[in-house]
Amino acid sequence: MLKEEPMSDFAQTVKQQADIVKVIEGYIRLRKAGAQNYSGLCPFHKEKSPSFSVHAVRQFYHCFGCQASGDVFSFVGKIENVSFPEAVKIVAQKCGIPLPKREFSSPEEAAGARLRGKLLDLHEATTAWFEEQLRGPEGAIAREYLAGRGLTPEGINAFRMGYAPDSFNALRDRLRGMADDDTLRASGLFSAKEQGDGSLGPIYDRFRKRVMFPIANESGRVIAFTARVLETGDKAGAKYLNSPETPLYQKGSVLFNLDKAKVSIRKHEFAVLVEGQMDCISVFLRGIQNVIATSGTAFTEQQVGLLKRHTSQVVVNFDPDAAGSNAAEKSIALLTEEGFTIKIVTLDGGLDPDRFIRERGVEAYMAALRGARRQSDYLIERVRQKFPGASAEQKVKQMNDLLPHIRRMPEKLARDQFAADAAQKLGIDSAVLREELRQAALKRRDHIEVRPAALTEVERVLLRALAITDPEFERGRRLAADAIAQQPAWFEPLGTFPAMRALATRQSADPMDVVEDEGQRALLAEALLAEVKPPLESEIQSAIQEIQERAMATRLRELRTLIAEAERRGDFAELAVLTQQKLELDRALRKLHNQRPPEG
Ligand SMILES: [Zn+2]
Repeated sequence: MLKEEPMSDFAQTVKQQADIVKVIEGYIRLRKAGAQNYSGLCPFHKEKSPSFSVHAVRQFYHCFGCQASGDVFSFVGKIENVSFPEAVKIVAQKCGIPLPKREFSSPEEAAGARLRGKLLDLHEATTAWFEEQLRGPEGAIAREYLAGRGLTPEGINAFRMGYAPDSFNALRDRLRGMADDDTLRASGLFSAKEQGDGSLGPIYDRFRKRVMFPIANESGRVIAFTARVLETGDKAGAKYLNSPETPLYQKGSVLFNLDKAKVSIRKHEFAVLVEGQMDCISVFLRGIQNVIATSGTAFTEQQVGLLKRHTSQVVVNFDPDAAGSNAAEKSIALLTEEGFTIKIVTLDGGLDPDRFIRERGVEAYMAALRGARRQSDYLIERVRQKFPGASAEQKVKQMNDLLPHIRRMPEKLARDQFAADAAQKLGIDSAVLREELRQAALKRRDHIEVRPAALTEVERVLLRALAITDPEFERGRRLAADAIAQQPAWFEPLGTFPAMRALATRQSADPMDVVEDEGQRALLAEALLAEVKPPLESEIQSAIQEIQERAMATRLRELRTLIAEAERRGDFAELAVLTQQKLELDRALRKLHNQRPPEG
């Protein structure tokens, strides 16, 4: 990439005038790290703590992590993935140094750069012309539409929105003086019908009777458009029409609004990620400037790379309908893999960001952003709704649903934390399951084998009690059966709960007949084979008490989590209720402990 030949006079001039710190700050966040140097996260390799340094006096950069180093041109060449002459040109433009006649290493390179330059000029002229059309008489219908979406003239100007009139040749006639037909074709601004012989016919305007939203690259130059239809019905065509891919525009390597948002993203150290361009514009214009949009499709690695240069924290605010959609899931998955810290916002009333901020105002939206939940909390809550209940079977399902998400996290510590959180919040009491979850997270396994758990002592006692057929010990059986009938939720977390429930309500005499599931029958058999005599009433009593204590302890853990969450939200009414519940539970639990008969 870097030419080994001696630098031209022009490149020398540019290098002397350019400030490498300023240029690099245009791409990544830098902090002052000493009298003459700055440091930041290296854009060329994955890292969590900064090992990338820029020397302000000697004008070079060096990464102690991946050994990348060089001058301002090598940095720009590497990060923009362009040749040396193009890097010189970019730096010159950033510093406002006028360009001499261009220098390229090959004719193809020169032609490519010339074409891209020409396409940028065409897009600039087109944007200005669309803006003009929006202000003109034909644009009334589009102005009305934009006003209806709550856009002010200032907002329209800031995003350079425009109007493509209802014509097949107005733009073509306008741009003809600027470029030949081949260049106009390459711009993506025109369409052409395929002829009988397979060649393309004459070009005509691609965008007609639509509101035009320019898409800019990171430097703020327009490289493509999104066009929204104004009419409805069959003839109107697709609601949104985008520029096709061109030498200027590759859909997967642009983040909508990054040019305007990047300063604010670095300042606030996080980005708000929305799906729609309108959502993005709406949020930005109301003062939340660190917002970017994915434009409805799943993130690509290039887009994640672009974002990573500015921050590694994202607050995701996707459409509630789309929160579980493929594109949203994939984007979140990719961000997780790249080590981003992710928070998820869900807006009240199922509103999208645009409507929410227009109807409830910016303060309410900011409150929603502050209340964003950690990704782990969001996923745990979702899995709880997906597989409700406290049975061991449901818990295994819940955990297997979470594991792929946990596995994606590149940091071992983060995975372990997530697994511990999940165990606590889902009330996973079983030490065996907790350990399985921890191991799966540590080793990045994505699945837990459902093994029939070994019987616990409490389960042995209860199963034996419930299996009593001898009328002499009927009181013991009743004790266990009644407890299960009255408080099934206490017993639900036990692995043998299905067998217990069947036994508690059994009519038939033989206990083995009422339990249908093979695994459950095996466990029951194990309990019954171990002892010949039925358990004592005192044993049964303390087994029930143990189950009750466990249920209360689980609820206590839940309450602690809820209290912490309410505290974080500043919801004091909720906090009061929860604290009271916890106090009562603490008291009841202590009382239960004191009643407990001494061991032995
Ligand atoms: Zn590096």
